Order: sequence, then C-alpha cells, then structure tokens
Amino acid sequence: SGSQPVYKRILLKLSGEALMGSAEYGIQPEVISRFAQEISELNAQGVQLGIVIGGGNIFRGAGLAASGMDRVSADHMGMLATVLNALALQDALERNGTFCRVMSAIRIHEVCEDYLRRRAIRHLEKGRVVIFAAGTGNPFFTTDSAASLRAVEIGAELMLKATQVDGVYNADPRKNPDAVRYDTLSYDEVINNRLGVMDTTAVVMCQEQKMPLRVFDVHRYGNLTDIVYGKNVGTLVK
Ligand code: UDP
Repeated sequence: SGSQPVYKRILLKLSGEALMGSAEYGIQPEVISRFAQEISELNAQGVQLGIVIGGGNIFRGAGLAASGMDRVSADHMGMLATVLNALALQDALERNGTFCRVMSAIRIHEVCEDYLRRRAIRHLEKGRVVIFAAGTGNPFFTTDSAASLRAVEIGAELMLKATQVDGVYNADPRKNPDAVRYDTLSYDEVINNRLGVMDTTAVVMCQEQKMPLRVFDVHRYGNLTDIVYGKNVGTLVK
C-alpha cells in the first residue's frame, strides 16, 4: 500500500443494518456520521465513490411478506426504506461539506434525483458522492444485486461489501471460535459453498462482468481508506 489511491472509482455497498449501530432499529446518528467522515475524507482525496445503501434496518420485504403482506408491496416498502437511509447519509455528508447526490431507482422528484447512468457518472466526475437509493427499483431483488448492477454500470474498478465481520469465514466467527477467514476466494467458491457473502444473483452478476469484490468490516475506522490505498483488508472475491 502506498501514498496514492489504487482505485479511482469504487462502489460501496452499505447495508441498512450497518447504520443501526447498537440499536434494534433505525439509524444511530453517531454511526452514520462516522461512516460519512471516512467517505468525506476519501472524496476529498479525489476517490470517486458510488454508494448503494440497504434498508434492512427499517423494513425488509421478505420479513414483511412472512407476516402475511403481499410481497410486491412489502418490497416497495423495503425500497422506500433505502431512500430514508440515503437521505440520512446525504445529510451527514453535506454536514461535512461534501457534495453529494441521491439518485433513486423509483421516481420521487420532490426528494431526490432519478437514477440516470450518464448523469450518475457525470456527478462522480465532478467529485460528488452518489448515493444510489431504492435498489434496482424492482421487487424480488436486493440491494446487493443493485450494488453489483450499479458497480458494473458506472464502471467501478472494485465493489466493496461492508459487513459486520472482517471478511468471509468458513463458519460464523461469532459462533465458532475456530472459524478461518479466507484471504481470497473465487466467485465459484462463494456460490458453490454457499458462503453467504451476498445473495447469489449479486455474486453471479459480479462473476459474469468480472467485477472484483472485497468483503470487509465496516465498523473498523480506516478499513475503507486502507482498501482504497491497496491494503489487503478482509476477503477478496475475484
Ligand atoms: N428491495 C427490492 N428491490 C431491490 C432492492 C431492495 O425490493 O432492488 C427491497 C427488499 O424488500 C429488501 C429491502 O428493499 O428487503 C431492503 O433492502 P436489503 O434487504 O437489500 O437491505 P440491507 O439488507 O442491505 O440493509
């Protein structure tokens, strides 16, 4: 790792869960400001950042459907939940003086811009952080799939999947003390061994489009920066 960023443009997938901190639901202000701080620093260093944000800290379609709701309505609620998170992150970034745009896959013109690929790339080139909200805009998908899709669309050099643990393990490290962390994995290993990095649709998209993916612990300050500067943090899937 050196003094220059290794990547010019990256796509970060931040789950809704990451924003909860120690809470059971919603957003912890100090957690979102912490993420915004590191994102603002990278932005100031000229790294182009697209961020796909999840909604699981508020609503997940599958969970609502399990308690009887129509799945499509439930997924609409889930996608709108990601818009709430996107607005909170935008606010936190703007309080740092960082220029930022929320682009939604569902039209909500009073609140944010529509997702348009060319305009998203233009924002990135102008040094604005772009937050992609409302996932893919379609029910039955996840924000992981949205992240793979946007990573490919904007021509990101790397997709970063922020998780609660520091990479991919052969067992859950929070339950099994002997769990071993992988340094690198192939897409096939992730898919065939059901390693649960992301849903299969998202991993297959990365594989087909040769989008490298790094899984890392979002709660350690400096990880994001270290990765952008070429340090071997977490697990690389390629
Ligand atoms: N969702 C959807 N289509 C998409 C992305 C998300 O319908 O393209 C809905 C789905 O109901 C999902 C919810 O939005 O459960 C929140 O997204 P996700 O579960 O991926 O959030 P995360 O787990 O990353 O917080």
